[in-house]
Amino acid sequence: MAAQTLAEAAVIEGNYSVAFPFFGAERRGAPVLAFTRIDSGKIYSKTQVYYPDCVVVLDDSLLDTIDVVSGLKPEGFVVINSKDVPEDIDLGMEVQTGAVDATSVALEILKAPITNTAILGAFAKVTGIVSIGSIEEAIKRRFGEKLGEKIGERNALAARTAYGRVVSGKSMGVKRLEVKKQWLPRYQEIPVGGALVKGKTSAGLIGPGSFIENKVSGWATFRPVRDREKCTMCLLCWLYCPEGTIIRISDKGDLMTNYDYCKGCGICANECPVDAIKMVRARV
Ligand code: SF4
Ligand code: SF4
Repeated sequence: MAAQTLAEAAVIEGNYSVAFPFFGAERRGAPVLAFTRIDSGKIYSKTQVYYPDCVVVLDDSLLDTIDVVSGLKPEGFVVINSKDVPEDIDLGMEVQTGAVDATSVALEILKAPITNTAILGAFAKVTGIVSIGSIEEAIKRRFGEKLGEKIGERNALAARTAYGRVVSGKSMGVKRLEVKKQWLPRYQEIPVGGALVKGKTSAGLIGPGSFIENKVSGWATFRPVRDREKCTMCLLCWLYCPEGTIIRISDKGDLMTNYDYCKGCGICANECPVDAIKMVRARV
């Protein structure tokens, strides 16, 4: 939605623009990637963007696992949702950076940690590629059409508020992130009608049990906290959790959540029929 809304704002200003997402195989709560191209002339390139002028990061917990500045031009920009000032953010590259606590802006104005409109306000301030007025208009059109006029206006206000709160500076270029190599099996390695066997590759574990390496707690903005008094042990949360991270302690007739594998999607809280699960901020 943010990538498309940015494209719409650019078009409002007489440019050409395209936007498209790239999703992995993960489910709700998993990191996603989206691209926007803006030009004063027609755009014929249909590929992903490999050498961006600007990178927008909606969740700074990704910095530990993903090289977000990969391919970024040295004279480019980073816009990041973070409570830290740019000088305290280590991107592995010294680059012009605008930081804003978009999560707090979204919680204040939208009452939900949906940061995609707030971050667009920060984008307008840091890059100047589109004006905040065009961002607001694009948000009102796109969100207003889908979710109603009031929600469109609130999202535009989130963008305007973030625009006013951005802190600009230069990020640090200290860390050298070791990004995991991708591993794709050759066709000879794929068993016909079966699953890959357990094994170790240069990219880490594969096959059954490989999830153990994939701790997703860093993705979570919120984490579930269960009220034992209210809980009726109906087990709906256990059934619906997409990560299988709610564990039954059979001898005690109780449940526990392994937060290492909880991505904070909130499905358990949505499904609990007695409202016994509250989602609380995981990072402050
Ligand atoms: S425990 Fe709840 S919030 Fe965590 S992954 Fe499972 S359903 Fe999502
Ligand atoms: S869904 Fe709610 S009531 Fe049911 S086991 Fe989970 S926390 Fe308890």
